[in-house]
Amino acid sequence: MTEKKRKHLECLKNLPRTKKWNEKIRKSHLGEKNPFFGKHHSGESKEKIKANMRGNKNPNWHGGVTPIHMALRKTAEYKLWRAAVFARDRWTCIWCGSKKNIHADHIKRFADYPELRFAIDNGRTLCRECHQKTDTWGHKK
Ligand SMILES: [Zn+2]
Repeated sequence: MTEKKRKHLECLKNLPRTKKWNEKIRKSHLGEKNPFFGKHHSGESKEKIKANMRGNKNPNWHGGVTPIHMALRKTAEYKLWRAAVFARDRWTCIWCGSKKNIHADHIKRFADYPELRFAIDNGRTLCRECHQKTDTWGHKK
């Protein structure tokens, strides 16, 4: 390291990082020194921004429907329902007896029978493989 560079670093280290100094820095970004000073988003540009986040331009767009089963799976009620179904079936697939990769399946689609969503009687424990064989697996109807 050159003597010059070393001195420079030394100098930086000794800079007074006082409140006053920080305030000075803060103020230097305010007012007319801020490139955004005095400018505001016009109503029009706000609309443009909004329009860009709407519909299929939004990366979160999924074709206009929030998949209800996805939202549902995150609820505490769903977790309780699933735990109750598993417990009743002793964490075992009721079709093949597997205890691996078990799912709680709705016998009647909860999209069609919203009142049965959290009915234990409408739930059954299936392993992943068996679950995939059901009519209600995935997007099959
Ligand atoms: Zn199974």
